[in-house]
Amino acid sequence: MDMNFFMPTKIVSGVGSVKSNAELFNLGDSCIIVTGASSAIKSGALDDVIEVLENLNIEYVVFDRIRENPLMSTCFDGGQIAAAQKADFVIGIGGGSPMDAAKAVAAYAANLNISPDGLFDSEKLKLSLPIIEIPTTSGTGSEVNPYSILSLDGKDLKKTFNSIYSYPKYAFLDPKYTYDLPKSVTLSTALDAFCHCIESYNSPKFTVISEQCALFGAKKIWRALDEIEKDAPVSEKTRERLMNAACVGGMAINTTGTGFPHPMGYNLTFYANIPHGRACGAFIGKYIENAMTADESAKRITKFALRIGATPEEIAYKIPKLANVDVRLDGETVEMFCEKISGARNFENSINPLPRNRIKEIYEELFLR
Ligand code: NAP
Ligand code: FE
Repeated sequence: MDMNFFMPTKIVSGVGSVKSNAELFNLGDSCIIVTGASSAIKSGALDDVIEVLENLNIEYVVFDRIRENPLMSTCFDGGQIAAAQKADFVIGIGGGSPMDAAKAVAAYAANLNISPDGLFDSEKLKLSLPIIEIPTTSGTGSEVNPYSILSLDGKDLKKTFNSIYSYPKYAFLDPKYTYDLPKSVTLSTALDAFCHCIESYNSPKFTVISEQCALFGAKKIWRALDEIEKDAPVSEKTRERLMNAACVGGMAINTTGTGFPHPMGYNLTFYANIPHGRACGAFIGKYIENAMTADESAKRITKFALRIGATPEEIAYKIPKLANVDVRLDGETVEMFCEKISGARNFENSINPLPRNRIKEIYEELFLR
């Protein structure tokens, strides 16, 4: 029985948790706050953080240039600004994009000798500035893992940077920051978290603890999906459940990594502007179909479904339906998609690995014009 599990991030949760744990921000004299365009402000998280920093006499600079699917070059700029500001630590506030970017900014600021893509050569990285993450979406789990998924400038390609130093020191989970999250973002991020849970559960690297995380998360999200679909606001209780579910999903993939819906989805995000969670969710039917072709993984997926109160068929139908990805691709684009993700190792990260020839077929079956 494999009990392996590693989680160096201290999680502090609950409404008001930033202000009621202000002392945890005492990590130096100066910091950089990494955010997107407006959600850090709209959610109230930035105001809470600034109040805490001012009370502690900590200087700060707000770097609000991160956009969805963050660019490596923007993070590099943030790292230079952090170094010029003599920042002692980095605070990421937002969805996965600013949280992932905060990890890159922290690494660049502490490794001024590296070029922008030197980040992917983790041997070269000496250290990182300490990182605090404050999610304003419930999806990526970036607040509890070391992954930072960056877009390579001009290449329409994502690459994951990941170092032992890029685990956040603290993750503050305050569901209040998601109360006004639009339904579209709520759904997409919930689908992302659900994908993390099922892909982690069905990874050969699962452990006794990671599989419990995956089940805990998936069960809460599966139940919440009906409420998210309804034409009424999502309750505060459900917002809290979704935030907790996404966080444990992040812990699950910290142990196992993700499966093939992730790289296959990246292409849909770049070329059709489909948000990350919906882009991954579009492949869950095919993911389950592949799992059901071999005894061991069929048993595992069936057990997963049973434990969350569903059947494999229901999941395979409902998740892609909610993802609602309506794109049409020509043969040339499919070829290009396959080429872009040919280096990804996620296809093997499943109890029944996806045969490589199936990548093209799946794109064609789902999206060929
Ligand atoms: P996101 O890209 O961070 O944000 C999506 C949109 O939601 C942005 O327009 C953002 O606005 C808005 N938003 C965020 N919080 C909001 C709030 N409380 N109220 C209103 N609007 C809000 O979305 P995400 O799905 O959380 O993150 C996706 C990224 O994470 C992708 O780059 C993906 O590759 C990565 N990812 C990372 C991991 C990991 O393990 N590290 C796992 C999966 C995915 P602003 O621009 O104003 O912030
Ligand atoms: Fe994801």
